[in-house]
This record gives sequence, C-alpha cells and structure tokens, in this order.
Amino acid sequence: MDTSAFVAGFDPFSISEEQYTVPAVKKEMSGRSMAWVRFKTAVENGKLKVRFPKKIFMDKAKASATLVGDSFFLSEADLQVLTLALQLKTQGYSPLIVTDDYSIQNVANQMGIEFASLATFGIRFRLHWIRYCPACHKRYPANHKSKRCEVCGTELKRKPSRKKILER
Ligand SMILES: [Zn+2]
Repeated sequence: MDTSAFVAGFDPFSISEEQYTVPAVKKEMSGRSMAWVRFKTAVENGKLKVRFPKKIFMDKAKASATLVGDSFFLSEADLQVLTLALQLKTQGYSPLIVTDDYSIQNVANQMGIEFASLATFGIRFRLHWIRYCPACHKRYPANHKSKRCEVCGTELKRKPSRKKILER
C-alpha cells in the first residue's frame, strides 16, 4: 500500500490478504486525520505491517526506475513501496501494489510486479516521460538532474512522450 491508497480511503479491514507498507508511507500519513486513524488502527491490530525494505532491493528498484525514466519523480515513500514489493516477490510472495501513482505503476510494471489502482483503471500503456520548460519549451530527458530550466530557470514539468502498449 502506498500513501495514495490510504488517502483515497482504502480500508485495510476490507480485504483478507496480508498487507504491508513502509516507514516512509507511515511518515507521510501522520496528521492526515481520518486516513491516519484508519492507518494506525490497522497497524495496531496487526492487519497492516510496516516493513523497512532491504538496501539490495532498493538498488534494483532504483535501476528499474531509471530505466523507465521515472526515477526523478519517485519520493522516498514511492521507492520504499517498490522496494518492499520486489523484496516480497523475491521471498516467494505474489505482491500487488495498491497505488494511484502512475510513476509507481510504471516502475512496478518494469519490474514485473502487479499493481492495482483505486480511483482509476491503472495503466494500459507504458508511459515514457520527458521533462520540459513551460516557459521557453526547451525539452530535457526524463532523468535530467536539475529541477530548473538551464536557459531561463523556470521549474520543469513532465509529460508522457510516447506510449507503448503492454504485451500482456
Ligand atoms: Zn526555460
């Protein structure tokens, strides 16, 4: 489960499967009134487990994110969610990431990990992102290191550059 799942109103008690999340999601959740109460209750009842993923899997998840050009857009929480899913898969589980975040979905897809979307139907296309300057329209690769345009200093935005239909 990532933050978007809980914010969108996902209730851990509504399904019977084993559920995991990560410390960075817990941190993002605290203070979000209703969602936080639901989150805390699920953790306290053992319905939701908070696991810190291992570093070796973190490196693999990062590499996959870079490959699809989404590394720049993943927060620490996103990366931990992806990493934990990869770790669980390696340990013989069949993880399903619950998220409405397209960058997480893209990277999950790249790693061969299933995901389910709450508010949308999820992606049917693999998106490739580019970054661009909304002021002077200069384009940058998705993994461009700076957040600002090197010509005019405006903060860059991102958009999908092309869509690839998934094989399955
Ligand atoms: Zn510019």
